[in-house]
Amino acid sequence: MDELILVVNAGSSSVKFALYQASQEICAGQAEGLLTQPRFHARSIGAEPETHAIPEAGHHAAVAFLAAWLHTAFPAQRVSAVGHRVVHGGDPAPGPTLVTPELLARLESLVPQMPLHLPHNLAPIHALPRLRPDLPQVACFDTSFHRTLPRLEQLFAIPRELIGEGVRRYGFHGLSYEFIARRLKEIAPAIADRRVVVAHLGSGASMCAMEGGHSVATTMGFTGLDGLPMGTRPGYMDPGILLYLMEAKGMDARAISDFLYKSCGMLGLSGGISNDMRELLASDAPEATEAVDFFVHRAARELGSLAAVLGGLDALVFTAGIGEHSPAIRAAICRRSHWLGITLDEAANDQNRTIISHADSAVAVLVVATDENRVIAEHTAALVPLREVSS
Ligand code: ADP
Repeated sequence: MDELILVVNAGSSSVKFALYQASQEICAGQAEGLLTQPRFHARSIGAEPETHAIPEAGHHAAVAFLAAWLHTAFPAQRVSAVGHRVVHGGDPAPGPTLVTPELLARLESLVPQMPLHLPHNLAPIHALPRLRPDLPQVACFDTSFHRTLPRLEQLFAIPRELIGEGVRRYGFHGLSYEFIARRLKEIAPAIADRRVVVAHLGSGASMCAMEGGHSVATTMGFTGLDGLPMGTRPGYMDPGILLYLMEAKGMDARAISDFLYKSCGMLGLSGGISNDMRELLASDAPEATEAVDFFVHRAARELGSLAAVLGGLDALVFTAGIGEHSPAIRAAICRRSHWLGITLDEAANDQNRTIISHADSAVAVLVVATDENRVIAEHTAALVPLREVSS
Protein backbone atom coordinates (compact mmCIF):
# COMPACT_ATOMS: atom_id res chain seq x y z
CA MET A 1 0.00 0.00 0.00
CA ASP A 2 1.43 3.43 -0.97
CA GLU A 3 2.28 5.76 1.85
CA LEU A 4 1.18 9.40 1.90
CA ILE A 5 2.15 12.45 3.91
CA LEU A 6 -0.57 14.91 4.78
CA VAL A 7 0.32 18.56 5.37
CA VAL A 8 -2.14 20.63 7.39
CA ASN A 9 -2.16 24.41 7.75
CA ALA A 10 -5.03 25.44 10.01
CA GLY A 11 -6.06 29.10 10.34
CA SER A 12 -8.91 30.86 12.10
CA SER A 13 -11.61 29.95 9.59
CA SER A 14 -9.93 27.49 7.24
CA VAL A 15 -7.93 24.26 7.26
CA LYS A 16 -5.70 24.03 4.18
CA PHE A 17 -4.14 20.69 3.29
CA ALA A 18 -1.84 19.05 0.77
CA LEU A 19 -1.09 15.39 0.17
CA TYR A 20 2.35 14.12 -0.87
CA GLN A 21 3.31 10.78 -2.33
CA ALA A 22 7.05 10.14 -2.77
CA SER A 23 7.76 13.92 -2.55
CA GLN A 24 5.14 14.78 -5.18
CA GLU A 25 2.04 16.80 -4.31
CA ILE A 26 -0.88 14.70 -5.54
CA CYS A 27 -3.78 16.61 -4.00
CA ALA A 28 -4.44 19.95 -2.30
CA GLY A 29 -7.45 21.75 -0.97
CA GLN A 30 -9.10 23.38 1.97
CA ALA A 31 -12.04 23.38 4.29
CA GLU A 32 -13.16 27.00 4.56
CA GLY A 33 -15.90 29.07 6.15
CA LEU A 34 -15.52 26.86 9.21
CA LEU A 35 -17.40 29.18 11.53
CA THR A 36 -20.26 29.99 9.18
CA GLN A 37 -20.93 27.73 6.17
CA PRO A 38 -18.20 25.10 6.07
CA ARG A 39 -17.28 23.91 2.57
CA PHE A 40 -14.62 21.45 1.47
CA HIS A 41 -12.65 21.89 -1.77
CA ALA A 42 -10.07 19.49 -3.20
CA ARG A 43 -8.05 19.22 -6.42
CA SER A 44 -6.32 15.91 -7.09
CA ILE A 45 -3.99 15.19 -10.01
CA GLY A 46 -5.98 13.61 -12.84
CA ALA A 47 -9.39 14.26 -11.25
CA GLU A 48 -12.05 16.96 -11.47
CA PRO A 49 -12.04 19.49 -8.58
CA GLU A 50 -14.52 18.56 -5.85
CA THR A 51 -16.60 20.71 -3.52
CA HIS A 52 -18.73 19.43 -0.64
CA ALA A 53 -20.68 20.97 2.22
CA ILE A 54 -19.32 20.00 5.65
CA PRO A 55 -22.29 19.16 7.88
CA GLU A 56 -20.95 20.70 11.10
CA ALA A 57 -19.10 23.92 11.96
CA GLY A 58 -15.67 24.08 13.59
CA HIS A 59 -12.15 22.77 13.14
CA HIS A 60 -12.78 19.30 14.56
CA ALA A 61 -15.63 18.65 12.12
CA ALA A 62 -13.44 19.87 9.24
CA VAL A 63 -10.59 17.54 10.21
CA ALA A 64 -12.99 14.60 10.58
CA PHE A 65 -14.42 15.37 7.14
CA LEU A 66 -10.93 15.58 5.64
CA ALA A 67 -9.88 12.25 7.19
CA ALA A 68 -13.03 10.50 5.89
CA TRP A 69 -12.67 12.09 2.44
CA LEU A 70 -9.03 11.00 2.14
CA HIS A 71 -10.03 7.46 3.04
CA THR A 72 -12.56 7.28 0.20
CA ALA A 73 -10.64 9.37 -2.36
CA PHE A 74 -7.40 7.37 -1.96
CA PRO A 75 -8.53 3.83 -1.08
CA ALA A 76 -5.28 2.21 -2.20
CA GLN A 77 -3.10 4.60 -0.21
CA ARG A 78 -2.64 5.30 3.44
CA VAL A 79 -1.70 8.50 5.25
CA SER A 80 1.28 7.49 7.37
CA ALA A 81 2.27 10.84 8.87
CA VAL A 82 0.92 14.36 9.21
CA GLY A 83 2.97 17.56 9.23
CA HIS A 84 1.43 20.68 10.72
CA ARG A 85 2.30 24.32 10.25
CA VAL A 86 2.55 25.84 13.73
CA VAL A 87 3.15 29.55 14.08
CA HIS A 88 5.26 29.47 17.25
CA GLY A 89 7.38 26.86 19.01
CA GLY A 90 8.45 28.76 22.13
CA ASP A 91 11.83 29.91 23.36
CA PRO A 92 14.34 28.72 22.25
CA ALA A 93 12.59 28.08 18.94
CA PRO A 94 12.69 24.34 18.26
CA GLY A 95 13.15 22.72 14.86
CA PRO A 96 10.49 20.37 13.44
CA THR A 97 9.39 18.10 16.28
CA LEU A 98 7.43 14.88 16.62
CA VAL A 99 4.24 15.67 18.55
CA THR A 100 4.08 14.21 22.06
CA PRO A 101 1.70 15.05 24.92
CA GLU A 102 4.57 17.06 26.49
CA LEU A 103 5.10 19.12 23.32
CA LEU A 104 1.35 19.77 23.04
CA ALA A 105 1.20 20.97 26.66
CA ARG A 106 4.16 23.31 26.02
CA LEU A 107 2.53 24.70 22.87
CA GLU A 108 -0.76 25.21 24.73
CA SER A 109 1.12 27.33 27.27
CA LEU A 110 2.13 29.69 24.41
CA VAL A 111 -1.47 30.43 23.41
CA PRO A 112 -1.65 33.71 25.39
CA GLN A 113 1.27 34.96 23.27
CA MET A 114 -0.33 33.92 19.94
CA PRO A 115 -4.05 33.88 20.76
CA LEU A 116 -5.24 34.35 17.20
CA HIS A 117 -3.14 31.73 15.44
CA LEU A 118 -1.88 29.06 17.79
CA PRO A 119 -5.23 27.64 19.03
CA HIS A 120 -6.27 27.07 15.40
CA ASN A 121 -2.93 25.47 14.51
CA LEU A 122 -3.30 23.13 17.48
CA ALA A 123 -6.96 22.17 16.86
CA PRO A 124 -6.19 19.52 14.17
CA ILE A 125 -3.29 18.18 16.26
CA HIS A 126 -5.80 17.54 19.05
CA ALA A 127 -8.47 16.18 16.69
CA LEU A 128 -6.45 13.69 14.62
CA PRO A 129 -5.45 11.20 17.35
CA ARG A 130 -9.15 10.61 18.08
CA LEU A 131 -9.61 9.56 14.45
CA ARG A 132 -6.27 7.78 13.91
CA PRO A 133 -4.51 7.14 17.25
CA ASP A 134 -1.54 5.48 15.51
CA LEU A 135 -0.79 8.43 13.21
CA PRO A 136 2.55 10.18 13.88
CA GLN A 137 2.29 13.98 13.79
CA VAL A 138 5.09 16.49 13.27
CA ALA A 139 4.94 20.18 14.20
CA CYS A 140 6.89 22.55 11.91
CA PHE A 141 7.34 26.04 13.30
CA ASP A 142 7.34 29.42 11.57
CA THR A 143 9.91 30.64 14.08
CA SER A 144 12.56 27.93 13.50
CA PHE A 145 14.30 29.59 10.56
CA HIS A 146 15.01 32.68 12.67
CA ARG A 147 16.95 30.77 15.35
CA THR A 148 20.08 32.28 13.81
CA LEU A 149 19.05 35.90 14.55
CA PRO A 150 21.94 37.61 16.34
CA ARG A 151 21.25 38.68 19.93
CA LEU A 152 20.91 42.38 19.05
CA GLU A 153 18.23 41.55 16.46
CA GLN A 154 16.31 39.58 19.08
CA LEU A 155 16.21 42.34 21.67
CA PHE A 156 13.69 45.05 22.41
CA ALA A 157 14.77 47.88 24.74
CA ILE A 158 12.61 46.71 27.62
CA PRO A 159 13.46 45.60 31.18
CA ARG A 160 15.66 42.52 31.14
CA GLU A 161 13.24 40.45 33.26
CA LEU A 162 10.79 40.53 30.36
CA ILE A 163 13.44 39.45 27.90
CA GLY A 164 14.21 36.56 30.27
CA GLU A 165 10.52 35.61 30.10
CA GLY A 166 10.81 35.29 26.33
CA VAL A 167 9.58 38.73 25.26
CA ARG A 168 11.84 39.16 22.23
CA ARG A 169 11.84 39.16 18.45
CA TYR A 170 11.13 35.67 17.08
CA GLY A 171 10.23 36.41 13.45
CA PHE A 172 7.71 34.43 11.39
CA HIS A 173 7.09 33.12 7.83
CA GLY A 174 10.13 30.91 8.53
CA LEU A 175 8.90 27.93 6.50
CA SER A 176 8.57 30.19 3.47
CA TYR A 177 12.05 31.66 4.01
CA GLU A 178 13.49 28.17 4.44
CA PHE A 179 11.99 27.13 1.10
CA ILE A 180 13.34 30.24 -0.66
CA ALA A 181 16.83 29.81 0.86
CA ARG A 182 16.95 26.23 -0.45
CA ARG A 183 15.51 27.15 -3.84
CA LEU A 184 18.06 29.93 -4.31
CA LYS A 185 20.85 27.38 -3.93
CA GLU A 186 19.35 25.53 -6.91
CA ILE A 187 18.45 28.41 -9.21
CA ALA A 188 21.04 31.06 -8.27
CA PRO A 189 23.92 29.35 -6.44
CA ALA A 190 26.25 32.30 -7.05
CA ILE A 191 24.11 34.60 -4.90
CA ALA A 192 22.38 32.17 -2.51
CA ASP A 193 25.02 32.59 0.20
CA ARG A 194 25.51 36.32 -0.24
CA ARG A 195 23.56 39.28 1.20
CA VAL A 196 19.93 38.54 0.30
CA VAL A 197 16.65 40.12 1.36
CA VAL A 198 13.52 38.04 0.80
CA ALA A 199 10.23 39.97 0.67
CA HIS A 200 7.33 37.65 1.58
CA LEU A 201 4.45 39.90 0.52
CA GLY A 202 1.07 38.24 1.04
CA SER A 203 -1.91 39.16 3.17
CA GLY A 204 0.59 38.65 5.98
CA ALA A 205 3.84 40.32 4.96
CA SER A 206 7.40 40.33 6.23
CA MET A 207 10.97 40.60 5.02
CA CYS A 208 14.02 38.60 6.00
CA ALA A 209 17.70 39.47 5.59
CA MET A 210 19.83 36.38 4.99
CA GLU A 211 23.53 35.79 4.94
CA GLY A 212 24.90 32.37 4.02
CA GLY A 213 21.26 31.28 3.65
CA HIS A 214 20.55 32.04 7.35
CA SER A 215 18.23 34.62 8.86
CA VAL A 216 20.14 37.58 10.33
CA ALA A 217 17.27 40.11 10.60
CA THR A 218 13.54 40.11 10.02
CA THR A 219 10.67 42.56 10.24
CA MET A 220 8.13 40.60 12.31
CA GLY A 221 8.81 40.52 16.02
CA PHE A 222 7.33 39.03 19.20
CA THR A 223 4.14 38.53 17.21
CA GLY A 224 3.20 38.79 13.55
CA LEU A 225 2.07 42.40 14.01
CA ASP A 226 5.39 44.16 13.55
CA GLY A 227 7.16 45.33 10.40
CA LEU A 228 5.36 45.81 7.09
CA PRO A 229 1.73 46.90 6.82
CA MET A 230 -0.45 43.91 5.89
CA GLY A 231 -4.00 43.13 4.77
CA THR A 232 -5.54 43.93 8.15
CA ARG A 233 -2.50 44.36 10.47
CA PRO A 234 -0.69 47.69 10.84
CA GLY A 235 2.94 46.58 10.87
CA TYR A 236 5.21 48.97 12.75
CA MET A 237 3.34 51.68 14.62
CA ASP A 238 4.10 53.84 17.63
CA PRO A 239 3.02 51.79 20.70
CA GLY A 240 1.81 55.10 22.18
CA ILE A 241 -1.19 54.81 19.85
CA LEU A 242 -2.33 51.84 21.95
CA LEU A 243 -2.08 53.90 25.14
CA TYR A 244 -4.21 56.55 23.46
CA LEU A 245 -6.84 53.98 22.45
CA MET A 246 -6.96 52.59 25.99
CA GLU A 247 -7.07 55.93 27.76
CA ALA A 248 -9.11 58.09 25.39
CA LYS A 249 -11.36 55.41 23.88
CA GLY A 250 -11.59 52.98 26.80
CA MET A 251 -10.53 50.01 24.67
CA ASP A 252 -9.60 46.85 26.57
CA ALA A 253 -7.17 44.09 25.54
CA ARG A 254 -9.81 42.29 23.51
CA ALA A 255 -10.79 45.42 21.58
CA ILE A 256 -7.12 46.31 21.00
CA SER A 257 -6.45 42.82 19.70
CA ASP A 258 -9.35 43.01 17.24
CA PHE A 259 -8.15 46.45 16.19
CA LEU A 260 -4.57 45.29 15.56
CA TYR A 261 -5.39 42.03 13.78
CA LYS A 262 -8.57 42.88 11.93
CA SER A 263 -9.09 46.62 11.38
CA CYS A 264 -5.71 48.06 10.43
CA GLY A 265 -3.35 47.57 7.50
CA MET A 266 -4.61 48.03 3.96
CA LEU A 267 -8.22 47.64 5.09
CA GLY A 268 -8.00 50.42 7.66
CA LEU A 269 -5.89 52.81 5.63
CA SER A 270 -8.04 52.42 2.50
CA GLY A 271 -11.04 53.52 4.57
CA GLY A 272 -12.53 50.04 4.45
CA ILE A 273 -12.29 49.57 0.67
CA SER A 274 -10.37 46.28 0.86
CA ASN A 275 -7.62 44.27 2.51
CA ASP A 276 -6.90 42.70 -0.89
CA MET A 277 -4.06 44.23 -2.92
CA ARG A 278 -5.71 43.31 -6.24
CA GLU A 279 -8.83 45.29 -5.36
CA LEU A 280 -6.81 48.26 -4.12
CA LEU A 281 -4.74 48.33 -7.32
CA ALA A 282 -7.93 48.22 -9.39
CA SER A 283 -9.64 51.03 -7.45
CA ASP A 284 -9.60 54.71 -8.46
CA ALA A 285 -10.41 55.89 -4.94
CA PRO A 286 -7.68 58.16 -3.50
CA GLU A 287 -7.78 56.19 -0.22
CA ALA A 288 -6.95 52.97 -2.08
CA THR A 289 -4.08 54.66 -3.94
CA GLU A 290 -2.72 56.07 -0.69
CA ALA A 291 -2.86 52.65 1.00
CA VAL A 292 -0.92 51.09 -1.90
CA ASP A 293 1.60 53.95 -1.85
CA PHE A 294 2.05 53.47 1.89
CA PHE A 295 2.65 49.71 1.44
CA VAL A 296 5.35 50.43 -1.15
CA HIS A 297 6.89 53.20 0.97
CA ARG A 298 7.13 50.98 4.05
CA ALA A 299 8.50 48.03 2.04
CA ALA A 300 11.24 50.24 0.53
CA ARG A 301 12.02 51.67 3.97
CA GLU A 302 12.33 48.21 5.56
CA LEU A 303 14.47 47.04 2.64
CA GLY A 304 16.88 49.91 3.29
CA SER A 305 16.97 49.02 6.97
CA LEU A 306 17.70 45.33 6.29
CA ALA A 307 20.38 46.28 3.74
CA ALA A 308 21.97 48.37 6.52
CA VAL A 309 22.09 45.25 8.75
CA LEU A 310 23.67 43.26 5.91
CA GLY A 311 26.13 46.04 5.06
CA GLY A 312 24.90 46.09 1.46
CA LEU A 313 22.71 44.02 -0.80
CA ASP A 314 23.42 41.40 -3.47
CA ALA A 315 19.92 40.09 -4.15
CA LEU A 316 16.28 40.88 -3.52
CA VAL A 317 13.73 38.07 -3.83
CA PHE A 318 9.97 38.64 -4.10
CA THR A 319 7.60 35.88 -3.01
CA ALA A 320 4.01 35.14 -1.77
CA GLY A 321 0.74 36.40 -3.33
CA ILE A 322 1.72 40.03 -3.97
CA GLY A 323 5.43 39.35 -4.46
CA GLU A 324 4.83 36.58 -7.01
CA HIS A 325 1.95 38.13 -8.92
CA SER A 326 2.11 41.92 -8.84
CA PRO A 327 4.55 43.52 -11.31
CA ALA A 328 3.22 46.96 -10.30
CA ILE A 329 4.13 46.59 -6.61
CA ARG A 330 7.52 45.00 -7.39
CA ALA A 331 8.33 47.82 -9.83
CA ALA A 332 7.31 50.52 -7.37
CA ILE A 333 9.47 49.04 -4.57
CA CYS A 334 12.43 48.59 -6.93
CA ARG A 335 12.19 52.13 -8.31
CA ARG A 336 12.34 53.55 -4.80
CA SER A 337 15.32 51.30 -4.05
CA HIS A 338 17.41 52.35 -7.05
CA TRP A 339 19.86 53.97 -4.61
CA LEU A 340 20.71 50.46 -3.35
CA GLY A 341 21.90 49.46 -6.82
CA ILE A 342 18.61 47.96 -8.01
CA THR A 343 17.69 48.44 -11.68
CA LEU A 344 14.66 46.55 -12.92
CA ASP A 345 14.20 44.96 -16.34
CA GLU A 346 10.66 46.28 -16.81
CA ALA A 347 9.75 43.75 -19.53
CA ALA A 348 11.01 40.79 -17.48
CA ASN A 349 9.08 42.11 -14.48
CA ASP A 350 5.87 42.51 -16.50
CA GLN A 351 6.26 38.90 -17.69
CA ASN A 352 6.79 37.58 -14.14
CA ARG A 353 10.13 36.04 -15.13
CA THR A 354 12.40 34.55 -12.46
CA ILE A 355 15.15 37.15 -12.88
CA ILE A 356 13.64 40.61 -13.23
CA SER A 357 16.72 42.80 -12.71
CA HIS A 358 18.45 44.52 -15.61
CA ALA A 359 21.76 43.01 -16.75
CA ASP A 360 23.50 46.17 -15.42
CA SER A 361 21.82 45.99 -11.99
CA ALA A 362 24.30 45.73 -9.10
CA VAL A 363 21.62 43.81 -7.18
CA ALA A 364 19.94 40.72 -8.65
CA VAL A 365 16.15 40.79 -8.30
CA LEU A 366 14.22 37.52 -8.49
CA VAL A 367 10.65 36.28 -8.30
CA VAL A 368 10.44 32.86 -6.63
CA ALA A 369 7.22 31.04 -5.81
CA THR A 370 7.21 29.87 -2.21
CA ASP A 371 6.01 26.42 -1.10
CA GLU A 372 5.69 26.08 2.66
CA ASN A 373 3.82 22.77 2.31
CA ARG A 374 6.77 21.12 0.59
CA VAL A 375 9.09 22.13 3.44
CA ILE A 376 6.64 20.67 5.98
CA ALA A 377 6.26 17.44 3.97
CA GLU A 378 10.03 17.04 3.77
CA HIS A 379 10.57 17.65 7.48
CA THR A 380 7.77 15.20 8.28
CA ALA A 381 9.24 12.51 6.02
CA ALA A 382 12.64 13.03 7.63
CA LEU A 383 11.26 12.60 11.17
CA VAL A 384 8.85 9.76 10.39
CA PRO A 385 10.60 7.26 8.13
CA LEU A 386 7.94 5.67 5.97
CA ARG A 387 7.66 1.93 5.63
CA GLU A 388 8.83 0.77 2.22
CA VAL A 389 5.85 -1.43 1.39
CA SER A 390 3.07 -2.49 3.70
CA SER A 391 -0.35 -3.94 3.22
P1 ADP B 1 -1.59 34.59 2.70
O1 ADP B 1 -0.76 35.43 3.60
O2 ADP B 1 -3.03 34.54 3.06
O3 ADP B 1 -0.98 33.22 2.35
P2 ADP B 1 -1.09 35.16 -0.10
O4 ADP B 1 0.39 34.89 -0.13
O5 ADP B 1 -1.99 34.20 -0.81
O6 ADP B 1 -1.60 35.42 1.37
O7 ADP B 1 -1.31 36.62 -0.71
C1 ADP B 1 -2.57 37.21 -0.74
C2 ADP B 1 -2.41 38.62 -1.28
O8 ADP B 1 -1.83 38.55 -2.59
C3 ADP B 1 -3.72 39.37 -1.43
O9 ADP B 1 -3.58 40.69 -0.96
C4 ADP B 1 -3.94 39.38 -2.95
O10 ADP B 1 -4.64 40.50 -3.35
C5 ADP B 1 -2.51 39.46 -3.42
N1 ADP B 1 -2.43 39.10 -4.84
C6 ADP B 1 -2.62 37.89 -5.41
N2 ADP B 1 -2.50 37.99 -6.76
C7 ADP B 1 -2.23 39.30 -7.03
C8 ADP B 1 -2.02 40.06 -8.21
N3 ADP B 1 -2.06 39.51 -9.41
N4 ADP B 1 -1.79 41.39 -8.09
C9 ADP B 1 -1.75 41.97 -6.88
N5 ADP B 1 -1.94 41.32 -5.72
C10 ADP B 1 -2.18 40.00 -5.79
